[in-house]
Amino acid sequence: MSATEQSQVLQLLEAHRDVIASAWYRSIAETSFVSLPAVEAHSHLLGLTDQAIACLLAEPFDRRRARAIGNALARLHYIDPEVLDRTQEVLGYRLVECLPLDQVVKLQPRLVLLLGGLATGFFAQARDMILAEQEQIRSADLTERQLIEKALRESQASLAEAQRIAHFGHWEYNLTKDELRWSDEVYRIFGVNPHEFDGTLDSYLGRLHPDDRAAFQKVVRESFRVGQFNFDHRIVRADGEIRTVQQSGEVIFDPDGNPAKVVGTVHDITERKALESTQYLQDFLTMVAHDLRQPLTILLGRIQMLQMLVQSGTGNLSEAEQRSLAAIEDTGGRILRLVSDLQDAAYIGAHRFGVYPGPMDLVETTRHIVEQQQSTTTVHRLHMEAPEHLRGKWDRDRIGQLLSNLISNAIKYSPEGCEVKVGVHKTGHEAVISVSDAGIGISPEHHELIFRSFSQVAPEQMRGRGLGLYISKAIVEAHGGRIWVQSESNEGSTFFVALPLE
Ligand code: ADP
Repeated sequence: MSATEQSQVLQLLEAHRDVIASAWYRSIAETSFVSLPAVEAHSHLLGLTDQAIACLLAEPFDRRRARAIGNALARLHYIDPEVLDRTQEVLGYRLVECLPLDQVVKLQPRLVLLLGGLATGFFAQARDMILAEQEQIRSADLTERQLIEKALRESQASLAEAQRIAHFGHWEYNLTKDELRWSDEVYRIFGVNPHEFDGTLDSYLGRLHPDDRAAFQKVVRESFRVGQFNFDHRIVRADGEIRTVQQSGEVIFDPDGNPAKVVGTVHDITERKALESTQYLQDFLTMVAHDLRQPLTILLGRIQMLQMLVQSGTGNLSEAEQRSLAAIEDTGGRILRLVSDLQDAAYIGAHRFGVYPGPMDLVETTRHIVEQQQSTTTVHRLHMEAPEHLRGKWDRDRIGQLLSNLISNAIKYSPEGCEVKVGVHKTGHEAVISVSDAGIGISPEHHELIFRSFSQVAPEQMRGRGLGLYISKAIVEAHGGRIWVQSESNEGSTFFVALPLE
């Protein structure tokens, strides 16, 4: 990432630090974290958010810094098992949501390192605190000792619970004794009972996916030189299931500088990997859609220019040539709409769909779209009812797209000769648009389904792509509004959209 890109990303993230910290606070506020006063907890998290942003961008990546964030989080409240899980979820999503796609792709590996380091730091701190409590027990008198022992048992149970929830385990390998000790969660991740594992390195290697074994051994050997390692690999569980884990280890050297022990964590990241590949598909879709749009737009522009030349008598084309030109224009237009829909759907799926509101007259935009849609049909009559003006702040292009979707559906799903009614009016603090048809209708059990992506419930020969209502819903919700339908099978449909006026 270039220095300019880095400073752009930093600016964007800094502008979102409050949003990130608030989301982080909200997500862990339901846990026992609330034992801290809200303002204090929030301001701690704001500080940690700044550190996470700095760590995400610092070159080279600084593991210690990532761990320090985990340490601090555990110091705030290590006892609650959910805190770490929620932190990973919120930071994993919020730290990149405000960034452009290409930056997200570039930052992804660093984000994984940041979250991994943070978790390791969290557990290391929790472990140290438990050890400190153990020390306290040793030096305490009997009654006090009983009380502290109880607290310690609770702490240990919480740590085990945290590991279970976050699918995180810790381990310790003694090189001299060839003895590997696992926490309970490591046994669960590998799907083995404690008596089935003899704790030697060989039997551990036997549980690795055969294709990842050599690479793992190489990484571990290298760690004896650099002092630590971070490695993702597959394991084969006792029941044969293949899962992916992330290993982080730190080498402890004896006084002569020889490696004596390796301590580390193992994190089951199978589900996260699956999510990343969905994310990858979405990114790929966005990229393809983006790359296709540009040449298509140019092509369509050229065709429209040719059409104009023909119409003005300057161009010299036979009738057959003119017909094929019109067909090319029509097909090109349809491909462009498909590509735009796919691009929108990819953005919605990646939670990166946004609108750009500005002052506009809803009635004027609706009238324009009604006229445009009327020109696509000679067999339906479009009728509009609206006040003279209804002004507000919305995204004119997106509202136009929403209206085109609803009106073209009303035309598509109603028989010839039917009337389509479009209404715009004001109720309370909302502008309400309605689009009614007397067509095939939608049975109530499908009313929610039709707003999902690629969902189509109409007879096969009438169906489109099943993206129009999905995108319409996203447009409405991005404006803070609502969309719903009233309809029965064979009794026509009315789609309503309510948009806030302020
Ligand atoms: P499509 O491209 O399939 O029309 P949409 O997302 O716009 O995709 O609509 C999803 C489904 O909702 C349609 O396939 C159709 O089954 C149903 N639908 C949408 N509008 C209407 C309508 N006005 N009348 C009846 N069914 C409709």
